[in-house]
Amino acid sequence: MINENIENLYIHIPFCRTRCPYCDFFSVKFNENYPFKKLLLKEIVLYNEKGYLKNIKNIYFGGGTPSVYESNFYAEIISSIGDAFNEVSIEINPEDGKNIDFLLLKSAGITRISLGIQTFNEDALKILGRNYSKDQIINTIERIRSNFENISFDRLIGIPFDSIKQLENDIELYLKYQPTHLSLYILTLNPTQERLITNRPDDDMVAELYKYAMKRLENKEFEHYEISNFAKNNKYCQYNVDVWNKNNYIGMGPGGVSTIENKRITNTASLKEYENLLNNNELPIRSSDILNNEDELFEYIMLGLRTKWGINTKKIKDNLNWDKIAEFKENGLIKHNNATLFLTDKGFLYYNYIVTAII
Ligand code: SF4
Repeated sequence: MINENIENLYIHIPFCRTRCPYCDFFSVKFNENYPFKKLLLKEIVLYNEKGYLKNIKNIYFGGGTPSVYESNFYAEIISSIGDAFNEVSIEINPEDGKNIDFLLLKSAGITRISLGIQTFNEDALKILGRNYSKDQIINTIERIRSNFENISFDRLIGIPFDSIKQLENDIELYLKYQPTHLSLYILTLNPTQERLITNRPDDDMVAELYKYAMKRLENKEFEHYEISNFAKNNKYCQYNVDVWNKNNYIGMGPGGVSTIENKRITNTASLKEYENLLNNNELPIRSSDILNNEDELFEYIMLGLRTKWGINTKKIKDNLNWDKIAEFKENGLIKHNNATLFLTDKGFLYYNYIVTAII
């Protein structure tokens, strides 16, 4: 029974106050008049009627910028899905911190906050198009801290003016506020974005920064459990862990993506079409594709090698390039214990190359 196996729900909030010039996520300018809450509640009703939401354990509100909406919005959405969850995460932009009632968010059922800091360096924030100051970040962190234990901070690597010193300063300040989780993403840009985001370090420096962060955080007892993610005391992002493990998830909201067994379902990214379909009592689906065995194998390897748990080679041994694996093992990029194959910290730096080379 498919619907017995869906434990994860992603809700895409497709709005931002302004557009950051390095961003590839789907979002449009926030429009208070768009009836998003009404439409999302309708989407939830339609999935509920199919019985798909009765075993949801983890919810992730991502974006876009979920914090454009008030805490009441989330109280209504969460209670329409259920009343007992393992983890409910929300992404918060420091710019919105002063307007958020974190106590109300907590009583609405949110259990985990992910704060998109990126850096405390205000010159870098300006070039990145992030509209907040260091003081605003600290104020938001303090307001979150008085209500939540389970907190994640984001830091982009390879931002303007990035250096070991700047990264060190940021990490020390991050650690001062005792997050349970950190996400460090390497900034990747297309040629147009490259022209807008100036004063960036070169690729060699970016690799040095990533290595420095890995070492620094592991010394502070953060477990490097995924290529870009570090957790203390097993406080992983459960929603993400389930997605990397290829468990089923539903994606709601414009542009939301679901994977249910071998089906990949994509919602329309057009706000107009999203509205029209739901007003017509139809799920706002743009496409539904079957993943063939080759797609499934590639995704299994691609997602599994992102994590410290790696992949199980037993069932897929005939599909792997064992000469390449031996070479990577020799170079200290890969480990293969019993039937588990995973990347080392050094291997994470060559992730893209390794994934395509071993198939
Ligand atoms: S706030 Fe986040 S989602 Fe919105 S444009 Fe900036 S990086 Fe993209």
